Amino acid sequence: MNLVLLGPPGAGKGTQAKRLIEKLAIPQISTGDLLRQAVKDETELGLQAKVKMETGELVPDDVVIGMVTQRLAQDDCKAGFILDGFPRAVGQAEALEDLLASVGRGLEHVVSIEVPEEELVRRLTGRRSCPACGAMFHVSFNPPKQSGICDACKGELITRADDNEETIRNRISVFRQQTEPLKDFYQAKGLLRGIDGSGTPAEIENIIAKVISKA
Ligand code: AMP
Repeated sequence: MNLVLLGPPGAGKGTQAKRLIEKLAIPQISTGDLLRQAVKDETELGLQAKVKMETGELVPDDVVIGMVTQRLAQDDCKAGFILDGFPRAVGQAEALEDLLASVGRGLEHVVSIEVPEEELVRRLTGRRSCPACGAMFHVSFNPPKQSGICDACKGELITRADDNEETIRNRISVFRQQTEPLKDFYQAKGLLRGIDGSGTPAEIENIIAKVISKA
């Protein structure tokens, strides 16, 4: 199954992608994770992306399109993929469409996760993640057993550099301006499945399971 998870920062795209990996046995492709790794490795691409990511702006289309093109060509994507955080602009969506069409493939579902803005800010300011294993926590809604320590691998939890209120507000505004138009783009193609993302991760997982099995 070829799936896109669409939604503002904090909507739960990463959380749901991780749950879907197990259910569908296909990989998650998170452009945010790929970019953070490039920044950490100090590659040329990482250095190019760093300032944009720190301020919450989008990294140029050609950079992310190149990254996704390479990733989708890998063997583990043959049975399908879950795109998390890509596409984020109409140019990216068009490039994805061309790329998939060139190999006789297409998207099956674009799940748009809707969450009110103040809830997004609450979720992101309290988010803590484990750079070692990718596990995610929230200081109030899903605290780790021991403060600052990952339950799964005992790694040290971090707050992402862009999870501060000023950058969060900018990321949401960038989403409204550049990414939200994708809802119309995919609605017109009959691929959009809008869902209410304000429940618990388990509740949202059930809703997504229903919409992707029905449509
Ligand atoms: P995320 O982890 O998805 O919240 O992404 C973190 C940051 O990476 C974003 O605020 C952007 O600066 C950058 N980024 C991730 N995916 C994309 C994309 N598809 N297009 C442009 N920039 C992206």
